[in-house]
Parts: sequence; C-alpha cells; structure tokens
Amino acid sequence: MVIAGMVKSSFVDYPGLVSCVFFVPGCNYDCFYCHNRRIIGGGQEEISLEYVRGFLGSRVGLLDAVVVSGGEPTLQEDLVGFLAELKRYGFRVKLDTNGSNPDAVAKVLEKGVCDYFAVDYKAPLSKYRDVCGGHVSGEDVLKTIELLTDKGAAFEVRTTVFPQLSVDDLLTMANELPVVPRYVLNRYRKPEIFRSCDEERVNAPPYTQKQLDEFAKQIKPYQPNVTT
Ligand code: SF4
Repeated sequence: MVIAGMVKSSFVDYPGLVSCVFFVPGCNYDCFYCHNRRIIGGGQEEISLEYVRGFLGSRVGLLDAVVVSGGEPTLQEDLVGFLAELKRYGFRVKLDTNGSNPDAVAKVLEKGVCDYFAVDYKAPLSKYRDVCGGHVSGEDVLKTIELLTDKGAAFEVRTTVFPQLSVDDLLTMANELPVVPRYVLNRYRKPEIFRSCDEERVNAPPYTQKQLDEFAKQIKPYQPNVTT
C-alpha cells in the first residue's frame, strides 16, 4: 500500500464520524477538474507505513474512522489487506473510489473490510470519456454501483456538478443509476493545477448553491435520496 498524503482529522469525509484520510497515488482517470493532479501520476514522496501505523495506534479511541481516498485506491494491490488492518485497530473504514474497478470492490465486499463506500458518478455515460479520459468506461462505474446495491452495502454516489453539466445531463445520470441510498451533488471548485487545454472549461463560472438545490429538486423524483 502506498500512501502519498493524509489529513489527520476531518469532520466531513465520513458522514457523521470524525475520521482521518489517506490519499493513495495514481489514478486510471484523468478528470479535467481533478483536485489531486499532484498525486494522480504517482511518483511523489510517500508517507512510510511505519509512520502510518504509529499514527493510527496513537489515534485509537480518538478517531472514529479512516477514509482511504486518492488517486484511485482500487489500483493498489494490497488494498484488502490494508483495509483489514484498519479494521483491526477498531476503526470504521470508508473507501472512496471512481468506480472503475468492480472486481476490486467485489473483493473488498467479500472480505467485509469496508463499512462505507463513496463512488463518483461523473457524467452521463455518453460524456464520460470527455470528462475523465479517452479509455474510461462509465459502464464499469454503473457495474460497481449495481454491485453495491445488490449486496446491500452502505454507500453513497457523488457527482461534482461542473459548469458544463446541464440539468438535462443530471436528469440523464439520475435515470442511468439505480436508486441509490444517498446521492450527493457537490459544488464545483476550480482546481489549482489543470491541463492548459482545459483552461476554458475549468474557468467557466460554477453553479451557485441555489442552482444546485434547484437541480436536486428536479432529480428527486428519480433519486429520492439526493442531497447537496
Ligand atoms: S478519478 Fe478522482 S483522482 Fe482520479 S483523475 Fe478523477 S478526480 Fe482525479
């Protein structure tokens, strides 16, 4: 398991719990609005597992949960073993994933080492590659979400409502998804680092919170558990 960054204490990354967050390097997507561009290519400085274990040991009884985020954690070969280790400390465990690897999520489910999943659903199927990169398959993400639904797992789906995503796109996405236990519409924030070819789209004005709330109202008939 490779850890490229961490947040020692967070009130927003695991619903209702105080958590720490570990960020793994490397991602198989290349979303134009990625906020973790420094780590998605891999190759940056790592935080040693010795330090991570020492930190976790010192937080037993102080933190409720650990979130494993990225980058894309399902690319890590020993993900299941790492999550199992987190459980042995007694923490609740959350996995953030782009949903591209349903087989890896199936293994995590099979071993029972994750309490809560957050899966990004980034665009309508027809636009997935434009947003996340040429080789990407939105169908894999739907497979992951359907798997979590079928297994009765605790999870949420998240969409960052970037400026080019229209209400029609959001309605299409709400219909492509099965009804999910929690569907979060997140506000778009311009990333600090981006590809020069994306300058125009990252600089487009973001939707307001009021607009997001209005979108949520329109989606609600299809995704009753939508929130902003
Ligand atoms: S899936 Fe997440 S980490 Fe990967 S490129 Fe997209 S926004 Fe960045």
